[in-house]
Amino acid sequence: MEDFNSETDSDYTSYWRDWFVSSRGNEYFCEIDEDYLTDRFNLTGLNTEVPYYQYALDLVTDVFDLDADDDLREQIEKSARHLYGLVHARYIVTTRGLAKMLDKYKKCDFGKCPRVLCDGHALLPMGQADIPNMSTVKLYCPKCEDIYNPKSSRHASIDGAYFGTSFHSILFQVYPALNPEKSMRRYEPRIYGFKVHAAAALARWQDGMREDLSARLAEYDINHRFIEESDSDDDDAYDYGEEIVPPRARR
Ligand SMILES: [Zn+2]
Repeated sequence: MEDFNSETDSDYTSYWRDWFVSSRGNEYFCEIDEDYLTDRFNLTGLNTEVPYYQYALDLVTDVFDLDADDDLREQIEKSARHLYGLVHARYIVTTRGLAKMLDKYKKCDFGKCPRVLCDGHALLPMGQADIPNMSTVKLYCPKCEDIYNPKSSRHASIDGAYFGTSFHSILFQVYPALNPEKSMRRYEPRIYGFKVHAAAALARWQDGMREDLSARLAEYDINHRFIEESDSDDDDAYDYGEEIVPPRARR
């Protein structure tokens, strides 16, 4: 909001989308093509969702021409941002939109996974709901397959519905080669070098379950491999220590 007010009127009526995607806090958004925004089919249903819909759309598509007082302008500006977000969720699952978000993902525009064992893997924005005002944007790490809160408060207040619940999964369906290899590495709590009993017991149980699942998948000819099981004898593989021998080594 303060960013918007610091702009002059002419900045704010021309190239609204340029301004929007380049202003601080909006780094997660990509620029929606004009063609997409001006195709009414893509906006189906949004007129009931967004107040001052037509003015908001005019502002987003840079044809806004209304002499409104500051209060009304602010309302329209707010609506324009909401409209942009809702269209954004639809746009980023199109071929063009996926490609744009992929570029940003490769540049780590969405940040890096805070989990130490993920080695700073790039994150993707996602929503926990497709309906607005339900929850704020979260960040998905494809390596640990977990979700995180954004670090910056500017990002933490963005509506998750502007990215939706499916975008990150669709991206890896369309670009399967990007899906990082899954890893068995995990943190093991120790006290002066000795494994903490409860955690070690849980880890052993999880390893057993993982092995059972692998065996069951193998029966159906689904052979999933973890990065540590790759043919090259990599020294980076996580050392389980002597106490826990990975079941696969016993075969
Ligand atoms: Zn991660």
